[in-house]
Formats: sequence, C-alpha cells, structure tokens
Amino acid sequence: MARFIFITGGVVSSLGKGLMAASLAALLQARGYKVRIRKLDPYLNVDPGTMSPYQHGEVYVTDDGAETDLGLGHYERFTGVPARQSDNVTSGRIYQGIIAKERKGDYLGATVQVVPHVTNAIKDFIRADLDPDLDFLICEIGGTVGDIESLPFIEAIRQFRNEEGRERTLSVHTTLVPYIAAAGELKTKPTQHSVRELTSLGIQPEIIVCRCEHPLPDNERAKIALFCNVRKEAVIPALDAKSIYAVPQQYSEAGLDAEVLRAFGELDRAPALDMRRWDDVTDRLFNWESEVTIGVVGKYVGLQDAYKSLTEALVHGGMANRVKVGIRWLDAELFEHPEADIPAQLEPLHGILVPGGFGERGSEGKIASVQFARERGVPFFGICLGMQMACIEAARNQAGLAGAGTTEFGETAEPVVGLITEWMDAEGLKQRREANGDLGGTMRLGAYEAVLAGNSHVASIYGGTHISERHRHRYEVNIHYKGALEEGGLLFTGMSPDGALPEIVERPDHPWFVGVQFHPELKSKPFDPHPLFASFIEAAVKQSRLV
Ligand code: GLN
Repeated sequence: MARFIFITGGVVSSLGKGLMAASLAALLQARGYKVRIRKLDPYLNVDPGTMSPYQHGEVYVTDDGAETDLGLGHYERFTGVPARQSDNVTSGRIYQGIIAKERKGDYLGATVQVVPHVTNAIKDFIRADLDPDLDFLICEIGGTVGDIESLPFIEAIRQFRNEEGRERTLSVHTTLVPYIAAAGELKTKPTQHSVRELTSLGIQPEIIVCRCEHPLPDNERAKIALFCNVRKEAVIPALDAKSIYAVPQQYSEAGLDAEVLRAFGELDRAPALDMRRWDDVTDRLFNWESEVTIGVVGKYVGLQDAYKSLTEALVHGGMANRVKVGIRWLDAELFEHPEADIPAQLEPLHGILVPGGFGERGSEGKIASVQFARERGVPFFGICLGMQMACIEAARNQAGLAGAGTTEFGETAEPVVGLITEWMDAEGLKQRREANGDLGGTMRLGAYEAVLAGNSHVASIYGGTHISERHRHRYEVNIHYKGALEEGGLLFTGMSPDGALPEIVERPDHPWFVGVQFHPELKSKPFDPHPLFASFIEAAVKQSRLV
C-alpha cells in the first residue's frame, strides 16, 4: 500500500519545494522504491495552459496531453517517471468538477460547501490513478501556508492524515532561515511562526526542511526542534546548491531520505542507497572539458522559467558531451531593427536555436537568424515555431515564394504554415476526425508518433525510425509545399504515421540543421539526455573548433 508524503512551504515562496520533492523522490528511487509526485496548485485557473509565460513560466505538457505546472518537468527530469494529467490539479479544476456535478443535480439538493465537498474532491484527487505497486506518493502543495487560497488543501491533508493514519502519511514543511548580516546571525523565528501556523491548522509536521544561505549551526537546529516539536535530526538544513542536479546528493547527506524512512518506521529494512546515477550526473556536469555557446533566439528573453525544459535539455546535451553549455538569450525582436548587425550577434555562437512560441512578435528576427545559420553552416535547431520559421525561410529565400508566411499571423499569400482545416482536403480531414477525433483548430497536445525516413540524419541520431514525442501547437507545416521546399534542400524526413503531417525537416547539405514540430526538451533527463540535444551540442563542439 502506498504511503503519502505532503510537502508544504512556509515563510516565503520560491523556496525550491518542487526541487525538494523531486530530490526526495529521486532518493527514494535510489533505494529501490517506486515513487510518483503530484502538484496541487491553489490558484483558480483550471490549468496553466492559458497563463502567460511571464506569470507562470513554461507550460509543461505530459504524454497524455495535459498542460501542467512546470514543477512536473522537474519531477520527470529527476525521476524519469512520465507525468500524467492525474499528477496536477488546481483549485480551478476542483471547483469546475464540483460545479458541473452541482448543475447536474448530483448533490441531491444538499448545500455544496468547501468542507466537505471541496476537501473530498481534493482527497479523491490524491487517491486517484495510483499504480498498484506504488510505494510513495509525494504531494507538493503550491503556495505558502497561511495563504487564503491554500486553506482547503491544508484542511484536506489534515483529514487525509486522520483517515489513513500517521503510519501511512508524513508532513514535510519547508521554510526559510534568513541570515541577518548586520547581526551576523541566522534567524529561526520565521520558521517557528510558520510551523505554528501549520500546527494551528491541524498538521504537526514530522520533518522541517530549512533553506538557508549559511550553514545551520547545531544549536539553531536544536532550537527549531524544540520550538517546533520535532526530533533534532528531523530538522534538515538545505543550503543553496551549485546546481539543481547536486540537490539530491545534498539532501541525502543532510539525512532527508533516512529521516523520511525513519518516520515511516522503515529505515531498518530499507534497501541501501545507490547514488551511482546521481554521481555520474554531477561528475558530467562539473567535470567538463570545453565550452560552447548556444544562442536562443526567442521572445521571452530574460525570463528563464519560460524556457525551463529547453534550458535543462541544453545542459543535458552538454553533459552527454562533457562540455559546458553557455546560453546566450537573444531577443528576436531586436534583429528586426533596420540597423541590427545580425552577423555581429550570431557569429560568435556555436549553435543557434529558435524555440517554440506563439504570436508574431519577433518572428522576422527568428527567420533572419534561420537564414544566417543556413548560409553560414552554423548548427541550427528549430523547435515547434522554430521549425515553422525554418520552413518559411526556405520558402522565401530558396523556393522563390516571397509572400510565404503562417496564417497564425494573419492572411498570407503563401500559407506554408496553417491550420489543417485551412490546407487539408475534405477526405483527409474526415479520416483524421474518424481516427482520433482531431477536428483541427484546437491545440495538438501530448505524445504522438512519427515515422522517420530510414536514411535521414534524424534516424541516425535517434537510432531508429519510430519515435514518440510531445506536441503543443495549433498550426502545421502545409504538406502542399513539400515539393518546393525539398527542391531548395529542406527535406521532410519525419512524418505523422499517416503521412499527413510534417514532423521533422532537415538539410543534408548542412553540418547540422534540424527542425521539429514537437518539443523534445520535455523528455530530456540529466541521466538520459535527449538524442537531438546531445547531437546538436556535439555539432556545436565541432563548430567551436572552427570559429
Ligand atoms: N504558435 C505555433 C503553433 O501554434 C507554434 C507553437 C509552439 O511553438 N509551441 O502552431
């Protein structure tokens, strides 16, 4: 029977609760346990799909097509366990379900209330869709204890712990122990208050994780234990780490996994910790042999969370090659300025990546950087919108279709990219509708298979011709332009299994030029770098020897 670990945060946000949850999961895995992590978000949006990257960072897409919190990306990168729709819920989704039931009359006239209806729905979410052999379910509660909106979640956990018993549930509370420079002291009072707040809501945490910028002295640890009613060993200091991938080792050394297992009465019979995976990860990360610089020409520059998975996948690609990857964020819009010196900006780079995105802003700058990469033989990787831009560049500059564009940005003379309802014939649309209910015009979300041409560069990179990757886009490259683009040298080497949708383009006459309609970054892991990223960085290393 699965056991449940609830992770809450106090004092301030941005404490790295998600990384803590992911690291704890990785450590339990390293002891041979089967784990899963879930995120419960108190905000009222039904999912993060419609939230601005400025507010919420990247939308992480799962195999089953859920648009989820970027925390799930960390969970997957640290555990390798593919996340599912049933691993992320928001207050909005909980309320949506309850209101739909209320409208149908399912509550038989009862007054629908936060307790018990909302709290029951939260508990149902926690218990739903668990693998029968699961050992631990870790639930991270978004927000900070004491927030109005997280109250129903905290109350649901209180009830849940009473129902399942202390031997099957655990509360881990993460707090901040600030350093007051003027006094030269770490302060435990915020932690005491935060734990008091949680206790007043009926939850006594068994473990307190203290984020701090300076080592936590023994006497302060003892003080927190005394005031917060836990064992001293259950006060886990968590200093800032050199890299997020060093966090599991650090938590292990601080005793987190041992303390969790002790709390469950499991420590004596727990398998030993095998950290070889993480030792290898940190070895590759810190012991690099050379450096490359990749330019990411995008829209949300200076907003790293908007490209979280992409940034990590580039780092993983570096680890595969034992090189350090520096990322230069370039604002595509600046390339549109008449006086912009594009070569001066792009010449020092060893690879150019145009990532996914929505909307017209900066698109001409992205197309200009594709052209630069193509003409100068610089490794180029186009992802989703980046592949669409590469196709438009080829159409305009190689196929003589000056009016080439995408209907996403309005009417265009040559719709090289458009909705399938705009370019697919009636028979094709009918078949797709029958096959997968795909009506077009809606977002293509989640994992889809693609078939690669046997003799293509991408087939050699993947080491096979059948792949599955995750999508999040509305528009598609229009198959009617295949002939014109291929004549210019841009080959369609990956297609949907029915041959209808272009999934990958590449240039055989170029050192490394690949565009993909999907998001390979979502599946890359530090211990299993995505082959496309590993290969792209390998090409960048070769390029670095030339410039
Ligand atoms: N805006 C493009 C589309 O909807 C690309 C989306 C993306 O890059 N994720 O097709």
